[in-house]
Order: sequence, then structure tokens, then C-alpha cells
Amino acid sequence: MPRKIVAGNWKMNGTQAALSELAYIAAAAGDVSCTTILCPPTTLLQAAAQSSGSLAIGGQNCHHEATGAHTGDVSAQMLADVGAQYVIVGHSERSTAYCESDENIADKFNQIKKYNMTPLLCIGENLIEREAGIMEKVVSEQIKTILDLYGQDIFKGSIIAYEPIWAIGSDSAASPDQIQQMCEFIKQLINTNIEDNNDVNIVYGGSVNAKNAVQLCEINGVDGILMGRASLDLNEFYEICNGIHKI
Ligand code: PEP
Repeated sequence: MPRKIVAGNWKMNGTQAALSELAYIAAAAGDVSCTTILCPPTTLLQAAAQSSGSLAIGGQNCHHEATGAHTGDVSAQMLADVGAQYVIVGHSERSTAYCESDENIADKFNQIKKYNMTPLLCIGENLIEREAGIMEKVVSEQIKTILDLYGQDIFKGSIIAYEPIWAIGSDSAASPDQIQQMCEFIKQLINTNIEDNNDVNIVYGGSVNAKNAVQLCEINGVDGILMGRASLDLNEFYEICNGIHKI
């Protein structure tokens, strides 16, 4: 069976003092049979990448242009330069706060691929869209923008995170039925649009924790998980990796 993916996003949490926790997660990553990825804040990336062992390190965002007058921003090349192997792109917290369009996200995706890193593309509907029943249309458009601008080959080797916005940071994850339906829909979308589709993994994100992680990973069409809060607690992170390791 292919290895499940366990990805953690520390968001804007963690100073250098957190590096010892990172070392603990890195040690645990070596003992489990999942692909374990941690996306710490940019300030910790280099130190994290230098001591990560089999834990892969990712950035949380990059600019959609290669270089230039963009005060405070970070390019894909800079992330690759300090050892990032993955980059989260299109996270709803970022796209909402910075009014990012699907085109901006597609350009970021392209930058990440250009520097040989793996994009962890977040897609998903908000609550209004879910209640209107247009979630499949929303995710189709998010994927189609990248396909239209950059073609199908760009998806090769990437990870797509289905993250319903209403489940992020909430008390409850989407239901197994909702997750299965959307992950299978996304898989089908990939299969019909991308020839080399075996290489694209679909993970679920939104209120994953130690109690539900294994069950969520066992859903048909789900290749792993992306978690926010649960990745900040190293015991919970370890418990999740260990549980998924036994699937
Ligand atoms: C996220 O922000 O991508 C996320 C999944 O957060 P949480 O696990 O805290 O819901």
C-alpha cells in the first residue's frame, strides 16, 4: 500500500524555542511508514531543514513572481534555497486575507514546480458554497485555472489538499461521506484531465486530530491528512503518525 501523507502546518506559531519540538517530531518521523511533512514559519525553515532527518520540511506560502519589489515577501527560489521540499499554496487563510485570485495561486504553483519542490495545493469551498451545493464547481474551477494556465504536466507529483473552509479551525471535521465524495470527485477530475495521474495525491484537511486521523485516512480516495492545530502539539503529532503507520 502507498505511504500515507501526514502534513502539519504550524501557521504563525513557533520561535527558535520550538526547534527542540521539531527535533522530536523528526525523530518520530523516522520510525513511521508515512511521508511526514512539517511546514514551520519561514523564520525556522532553514534550521528545521538542517535537522529534519526523514521529516520533510515545507514553506507555507511563496510569492507568485520570481523576484522583485515585493517588500516582506518570500519567493519559491528562496524557500528551495534554505531546504524546503514542499510549499503550501492556496491556503484559504492566506487567499482570503490577501485577496488572492485562482490565477495568483496558479502562478505560485508554477513557481514552486520551477524550483523542484512539491506544491501542496489547498482547495475547497466555503460554507455558503457548500450550502448552495456548488462545492464540486468551486474545486473544479480552482484546478482548471492551473490546468488552463500551465497544462496538465505541472500537476505531476503534486499533492492536493481538500480543505472545506468551514471545517478549518472549527470543532468538527467534514463527515466521512462528504470527504469521500469530494476526494473521489477530485481524483476523477485529475484522472480525466491528467495523463500521468498516479503521481497526484489527495489529502484531507480541516479539524483533524488524534481521535479522527486514522478514520479519515482510511476513507476511500484519501491519501493522507493536512493538519493545523494538531501539529502544534508534539504528542498529538506523534500519536497521529503512529496511528496512521499502523493502517
Ligand atoms: C488548516 O488550516 O489547514 C487546518 C487544517 O487547520 P486545523 O487542522 O486547525 O483545522
